[in-house]
Amino acid sequence: MIQVSKNVYVETGMTACNVGFVTTKAGVVMIDTPMRPTDAIKWRDEAAGKGKIEYIINTEEHADHWQTSYFFPGVLITSQETRDKLSKAARERVMDSVKRIDPDALPLMEKYQVRLADATFTDKMNLYVGEHTFQLFSLPGHSSGGIGVYIPQERVVFATDIVFHKKKSWLQEADPAAWLASLKKIGGLDVDVIVPGHGDLCKKEYLEEEAGIIRQWEELVRSAIKQGLSVEEAAAKIVSPDPHPKQQGTPMTEAELHKAMISRLYTLYS
Ligand SMILES: [Zn+2]
Repeated sequence: MIQVSKNVYVETGMTACNVGFVTTKAGVVMIDTPMRPTDAIKWRDEAAGKGKIEYIINTEEHADHWQTSYFFPGVLITSQETRDKLSKAARERVMDSVKRIDPDALPLMEKYQVRLADATFTDKMNLYVGEHTFQLFSLPGHSSGGIGVYIPQERVVFATDIVFHKKKSWLQEADPAAWLASLKKIGGLDVDVIVPGHGDLCKKEYLEEEAGIIRQWEELVRSAIKQGLSVEEAAAKIVSPDPHPKQQGTPMTEAELHKAMISRLYTLYS
């Protein structure tokens, strides 16, 4: 666990997304929850050691960000989009994932249910806890339900999967134009530290590199379509412009992810 600022703590070493919490005078606010139930129990106990857990915020609809929210107390907040998507998420998919990545946790899963948000918003909302303000705002692009969490008093923003710091960026459901606009939003904040969805903590300087990767994917797929290539030909011909490795422990092989990303962008631009 890394202490990022006076009251912000982050863990970047779990499978798969980063998780964090903020201590306030009125309790603890969690941001995202681990993917593995055994990690979730440890993380919950670590946070509870700093105060009562009052709120949990899940920053997007992909399972690595919310799969274990069931194990946490507190009021759960997500975007409306994420809640809508999770209302269709199957318990069986989570069970399959736990069997694969955390089989020892199966006894904990007997009564498991996908946990839906208690409170949602569409564009932005402020949450006031103790003396802290949490500014929650829509950050689409990687996924449609993504949100950022900006804590001005701490000069920290949780950027969800709009930032993959030196890890391969996942565009399998991406809208690159929205992604680039979200990066600009993050760039406009007064922060010292960005907590990326994946990878080590970073600073605003990294945003330009992330934007460059997104722009190059867009250009490569647009040009393949212009050349009249089929989606299969495009996937075979395009070399990934992303210099960073795929994070270990994440689903799909490199080849599967490559195809999924190109077919997403191909459909978007055709
Ligand atoms: Zn994601």
